[in-house]
Amino acid sequence: VTVLRVLILGGTSEARHLAGALALQTQVEVISSLAGRVAAPLLPAGQVRIGGFGGADGLAAWLSAHEVSAVIDATHPFAATIGRSAAVATRHVGIPLLALRRPGWTEHAGDDWRRVSSMAHAAAALSGLGERVFLTTGRKEVATFAGMDEHWFLIRSVDLPDEPLPSRHELVLARGPFAIEDEIALMQDHEIDVLVTKDSGGGMTSAKLDAARELRLPVVMIDRPGQLDVPWVHTVDAAAAWVRDLPH
Ligand code: NAP
Repeated sequence: VTVLRVLILGGTSEARHLAGALALQTQVEVISSLAGRVAAPLLPAGQVRIGGFGGADGLAAWLSAHEVSAVIDATHPFAATIGRSAAVATRHVGIPLLALRRPGWTEHAGDDWRRVSSMAHAAAALSGLGERVFLTTGRKEVATFAGMDEHWFLIRSVDLPDEPLPSRHELVLARGPFAIEDEIALMQDHEIDVLVTKDSGGGMTSAKLDAARELRLPVVMIDRPGQLDVPWVHTVDAAAAWVRDLPH
């Protein structure tokens, strides 16, 4: 009986849960790949490798060398480069690719969301929405907000940003899940006027949206980058079922 070796492109809680689910399947060997951005990542079950592959060519070579049977792109919806690499590399090597994408967030009654298409548009959208900003877009591209001296920022990320920051700010290093009471307290303590977030989706970090609704604060919501045309599922269970149905 042949063993299926499945590579999960990870860095999300779904990817971690999927690795756990696949580890329970017989005849499946799971390898998770992390970019290496987080200093102390939560490690999934099974084998783990860390660091970039060197573009689509590097990934294709890696897939061949490690005799990978299938790839699941379970990276963050805003991680667009690795998704493109995965599409090109799997086509080149001739193995199946599935994307595991959690649904985006949707607006509820009482929400005041401004949808924008980029970090730069988010920065522009802040004008008129108040002085004190809760910035939860992660440490990548925070430099977009540097130089916005008329605003004060509460910047939350998992690790310290290594880019220029706005002159008036406070950093809070934290990793979800977050509870709504804590989010409300944090926003009240810092007299937040407006929340800026990516449309990451999922339950790990959605409490800030409930808190903003409760406090009647506007939310600047950054839309996802365009998604590639690859087969995809929304849930860990569906991705695990896809692996179970792969030809052995
Ligand atoms: P990206 O722009 O798509 O990727 C940049 C480069 O990082 C890729 O070209 C690749 O390098 C490497 N890379 C990305 N994900 C990788 C993985 N799972 N395994 C090995 N190499 C990977 O991605 P990003 O936005 O920088 O995000 C990096 C990681 O953080 C992703 O794994 C993602 O799931 C996670 N994450 C991202 C966000 C976000 O908002 N962007 C939020 C939470 C978590 P090579 O070209 O050298 O292969």
